[in-house]
Amino acid sequence: MPESMKLRDRITIESFRRIDRDVILGAIEIDQDKCTGCGLCVRACAAGSIELKDKKARMRTVFPICHACADCVAICSRKAIRMTRFLEFKKYFRYLDRGQPELPRKF
Ligand code: SF4
Ligand code: SF4
Repeated sequence: MPESMKLRDRITIESFRRIDRDVILGAIEIDQDKCTGCGLCVRACAAGSIELKDKKARMRTVFPICHACADCVAICSRKAIRMTRFLEFKKYFRYLDRGQPELPRKF
C-alpha cells in the first residue's frame, strides 16, 4: 500500500459497505424503441440491476449497482444498450492483476 495512505483509508479499503460513497458507479442507457423485451440483459447482469417493466428493459430505480462490465451491451442483439459512464474510484483500489480495462467481451 502507498505510504501516503491515511489510516482511515487503510481501514475502509477492503470494504464495499459504502460503495456509493467510495465509487462513482457505472451507468447504461437503454433505447426503449429498440428494446424488444427479450430479457437477455436482465439475465446477464450479475449485479441484478436491470429489470423488465412493461416488456421493456430498464435500470432498477432502487439503488442500481452497475460495475460497468458491459455484458448487457454485448448480449443485446438489438444494440439497444450503451454505456454512458465507466466506474470511477474516488479513493484507492486494488488491482486484481488483470491488466488494463478491456473492451466489452463479444459473445
Ligand atoms: S437484451 Fe436488449 S432487447 Fe433484450 S431486453 Fe435487454 S435491452 Fe431489450
Ligand atoms: S454494465 Fe454490467 S453491471 Fe452494468 S447494467 Fe450492464 S450487465 Fe449490469
